[in-house]
Amino acid sequence: MDRVTNIKPDEQSLIDSVHKFIEAEVAPIQAALGDRFWDERQHYTPSGKEAPEITAARRQVREASARAGFYTMFCPKDYGGAELGVRLWFLCWESLFHRYGPPSKQLAFFVFSHFTSGPHEVWKYAKPELQAEVLPELTAGRLQGCFGMSEPDAGSDAWMMRTTAVRDGDDWVINGMKQWTSWSPTADFVMVYAITDKALFAARRGGISCFYVPTDTPGFKVESVIKIFGRLGGSEGILSFTDVRVPDKHMVGELNRGFDLAMLGVRHGRLANAGRTLGLGRWALEKTIDYAKVRKTFGSTLAEHQTIRNYIAEATAILYAGRAMALDCADKADQGRDVRTEVSILKYFTTENLFTVLDKCIQIHGGMGLVNETRLYDAWHQARMTRIVEGASEIQLRQIAQHVLSGRVDLTFA
Ligand SMILES: Cc1cc2nc3c(=O)[nH]c(=O)nc-3n(C[C@H](O)[C@H](O)[C@H](O)COP(=O)(O)OP(=O)(O)OC[C@H]3O[C@@H](n4cnc5c(N)ncnc54)[C@H](O)[C@@H]3O)c2cc1C
Repeated sequence: MDRVTNIKPDEQSLIDSVHKFIEAEVAPIQAALGDRFWDERQHYTPSGKEAPEITAARRQVREASARAGFYTMFCPKDYGGAELGVRLWFLCWESLFHRYGPPSKQLAFFVFSHFTSGPHEVWKYAKPELQAEVLPELTAGRLQGCFGMSEPDAGSDAWMMRTTAVRDGDDWVINGMKQWTSWSPTADFVMVYAITDKALFAARRGGISCFYVPTDTPGFKVESVIKIFGRLGGSEGILSFTDVRVPDKHMVGELNRGFDLAMLGVRHGRLANAGRTLGLGRWALEKTIDYAKVRKTFGSTLAEHQTIRNYIAEATAILYAGRAMALDCADKADQGRDVRTEVSILKYFTTENLFTVLDKCIQIHGGMGLVNETRLYDAWHQARMTRIVEGASEIQLRQIAQHVLSGRVDLTFA
């Protein structure tokens, strides 16, 4: 075990091999796009949808990673994964963000399958006919999906959902809207969540089911692309479903138990999010320490001013606490323990505090913190976004308070 990083030698060698793969196989795909990759004006079509060359490059990365065995290494063994566990899942994401910084215009971030877009544990609950049809293509990286839960009136409160799926003979007919669905403008399919039992749903006791919907199904439409942070395009879409008909074999998981299935993915996503914020924080703080040691004001380097030293010390303390929390949470998850409270604490703590770390890193850089070249603004955007996606901070606090006040968790977290 490395005393500083808390990473075991076999974990480190796996992480090193991921980075070697990225340098050998992903970097050339990125380089082949030339200036186009760095120029945001060429990244999107006028509608804001990603340009086909960028979508194709992402697919190339997934396919190369699948061939090398990295893409599905966190997926179940049943369909070719290696079930490497939650601890490595966190460490791998952390190492990607630490090495490459903010993910915009970086293809390295598509090396691992993510629950929103690729094969994941949720596919264990798909019917065998659907698995046989979809998994060979999905695990090879040739398909890209998206996760459709949020709607215009249902974000934090999924029980405000309106999309319905009604049984008609051997089929289900889906009607409704989804919003914020990441990767949907270029996706091959949507995992869409819809109300299948109004009484259970009204009682907030279930009643939601998950369906696999190929995006070429009649009645499905990407209404628009959502642009954020002043960008010219985006990855999130607003989707409509008008009498979208899918066969019963497309229902994933048990009837009316879709919410639990979604949470399985979301919990995994929150651990990756902790890797994102902690890796980004480390990337930014290392850059900031280097800068503070050379930039001089009032006859001293920034690193010699006590206020700046305090900023750096506070950021360091946050990184240490967040990482210790993430590793504890991941280890418990790998032991099969229920970590719902811990994951909420981790999501809340890392995203809220890493936003502060990135803000301080920008502050220490002065005007240089705002220029495109340092990419700190980009990391700051990422950190800002993580406080909302996959359950906003207030919703994590709501959950933590519920668990503590009801006595569901023991405050020692032993
Ligand atoms: C970039 C991006 C990507 C996304 N990708 C996806 C995706 O792929 N699939 C998907 O299904 N969804 C996705 N989402 C949606 C995301 O999950 C929601 O934005 C999030 O759950 C918050 O919902 P909302 O935006 O509707 O805010 P609201 O639910 O309207 O909440 C607004 C504010 O009020 C707070 N609030 C709400 N209820 C309470 C309460 N009881 N107590 C205190 N405060 C409260 C919230 O925390 C928030 O700060 C994405 C969102 C973004 C921005």
